[in-house]
Amino acid sequence: MIRLNDIIDKVTAYKEISDNELDLIKKAYIYSAKVHAGQTRISGEPYLSHPLEVSAILADLKLDISTISTGLLHDTVEDTLATIQEIDDLFGKDIAFLVDGTTKISKLEYVSKLESQAESFRKFILATAKDIRVVLIKLADRLHNMRTLKYLPEDRRIRISQETMDIYAPLAHRLGINWINTELEDLAFQFSNPKDYRKVTKLVSSKKKEWRNYLNEVKNTISSKLNELNIDADVTGRFKHNYGIYKKMQFQSKDFEKVYDILAFRVLTNSENECYQTLGAVHTIWKPIPGRFKDYIALPKTNGYQSLHTTVLGPLGEQVEIQIRTKDMHEYAEYGVAAHWNYKEQNGNGNGSYEMYSMLRKLVEHKDIEDPAEFLDAIKGELISNLLYVFTPGGDLIELQRGATPVDFAYAIHSDIGDHCSRAMVNRALVSLDYKLKTGDTVEITINKEQKPNRDWLSFVVTSKAKTKIRSWLRTLENKKAEEIGKSIAERKLRDKGININDIFKKDKLTEIFDKFELNNLEELYRAVGFGNISINDLIKFVKPETELHTADKAYRIDKIIKNIRKDEMKDAVLVKGFNDIMTRFAKCCSPLPGESISGYITRGKGITIHKNDCPHLLEVDPQRKIEVEWDKNFNEQMPAKIFVECIDKPGILSKLTKTISSSDVNILRVEMDSIEIEKAKGVFNLTVDNVNQLIAVIESLKKVKGVLSVDRIFDESQEI
Ligand code: MN
Repeated sequence: MIRLNDIIDKVTAYKEISDNELDLIKKAYIYSAKVHAGQTRISGEPYLSHPLEVSAILADLKLDISTISTGLLHDTVEDTLATIQEIDDLFGKDIAFLVDGTTKISKLEYVSKLESQAESFRKFILATAKDIRVVLIKLADRLHNMRTLKYLPEDRRIRISQETMDIYAPLAHRLGINWINTELEDLAFQFSNPKDYRKVTKLVSSKKKEWRNYLNEVKNTISSKLNELNIDADVTGRFKHNYGIYKKMQFQSKDFEKVYDILAFRVLTNSENECYQTLGAVHTIWKPIPGRFKDYIALPKTNGYQSLHTTVLGPLGEQVEIQIRTKDMHEYAEYGVAAHWNYKEQNGNGNGSYEMYSMLRKLVEHKDIEDPAEFLDAIKGELISNLLYVFTPGGDLIELQRGATPVDFAYAIHSDIGDHCSRAMVNRALVSLDYKLKTGDTVEITINKEQKPNRDWLSFVVTSKAKTKIRSWLRTLENKKAEEIGKSIAERKLRDKGININDIFKKDKLTEIFDKFELNNLEELYRAVGFGNISINDLIKFVKPETELHTADKAYRIDKIIKNIRKDEMKDAVLVKGFNDIMTRFAKCCSPLPGESISGYITRGKGITIHKNDCPHLLEVDPQRKIEVEWDKNFNEQMPAKIFVECIDKPGILSKLTKTISSSDVNILRVEMDSIEIEKAKGVFNLTVDNVNQLIAVIESLKKVKGVLSVDRIFDESQEI
């Protein structure tokens, strides 16, 4: 079992450790030993061996002291009674933050085998980890778990291997950490597909001796040529990792005997220039195969990898791949993002590893970013798309679009939760329903059966599921109201005509009505009447053709009460200068609306009546009794207003008018329609509006409805002074 001193040795090999830092690592070790005491791994080893190994892997990645310490502590909050608060108190914010991030990722369970899920899960891990070190800790954790996977029962071995293949190996690749990527792939390959794994290892070992000779021949040929040219370089040759060979076999479906490119040759030089010189030298020894040369120095891969790749016809006339890069590029190829972290740690002044820095520049092409930390964000930005990831209180992962709100979240969980979501907590703090969620947030929704979807919600939700569900709820509501209205019209009109509803709505008669008007049920009939799609007179004519319908009968009156918010005293709407709590009411002669200039008039015993400034009644009064007033900016209730509409009387016009009004978010309290002459109707609409501009807008859109002759705002006639 690895010991603490081994870890400290690894760290001192790449950085100086201060006494404080040393104390911190030791303290983390002692704390971890204390809280994990008595726990064992399935292998039978004390549990502490795991955090020690993880910490050692992080030291292999040459990471900073906080990360090394977090390696020791990474399972304390998840698997023991330790709390984040305790970690924070003992080890400070940075380590607490890293432990918390690692714990969050560990809680997630990846179950789906769908490729799209795997991709979003990888993106999520990158997005969640506000700090790339959290991902590196998670990779180290996974690597050690894979190294000790043989102790687990077979079903868990297979599941964990699959997850490693789907999520963690690609993640290591994405971050450019080649050695972790290949080791994870080999381990996962071994446990998830033991049959093919054995086949590959057997074939490789049977060929090893023969190919080692070949390997040395190629190596020596390159080395002596470079010596001639005075290029100081390391030349290495090796077998590719087992999973890499397996993939090549699958991909090329080649006979294994002939696959020479399971061998990898690598030349590491000291400068970029020497890379190109070496390339030239190699091409003078062996003939390059056209189309197989790749210049990843000029055009790095998206994970930052840089190298020259060429394939030549080797000494036996076979294809050989040779990779040529500088030692710095190689460092990056092995350590990826972690190498960049080293740079930030060790070269705070910006000297030294400028090359690495410029490589990252090329990678993200954000030329104006100077701070390495911002670079990491930029890299993450490239890797994750326009999505955000939040948690349920149970730790489940929900993917949403950027800009999503608690309402989007609620609908993503279930439509019922969306329809009734009344309160939202984000990271245990109450937020408004239009709060913009951030990746990593934990969101909790409180539902209340009284809460209903609101038209306002449409102004801030971003996911299509939320939009669709809210719209469909509002449509259902509209239908229900139309049904109620239609029902009351039908009942009254039929009664007025002396028709017994029960007689008419007998089964046979109903079937006839449904056939005639192309309906399926009674609800549809009421709805059609309510929306004005079927005129009540047509219905009566059909039911009882002998009915005499006089012009006067065409008049109908609808009491449409959607929301009776009318108040006689709207105290809060207006502020009276110099008075705190004085009673006010609105003059019915001019019914002022927010947005209009107003004045108050003092009436004895009744408080203050509010008029529009230009109300003719106000001009006649005693100026002594006028008082300055203003709208309260916090007042946000709707105010009553009346309009008068003259239109051509045709089926469906009422429906058109009410729809036009509703679609401007204006409520209709009451509608009175009368036929004034044949083919002509007039109506009075009692509305409630937010302000005068909204009323003007409604009037304008009503004027555009086909068949409408005139629309005017009207007031009650009674004098109020
Ligand atoms: Mn662990």
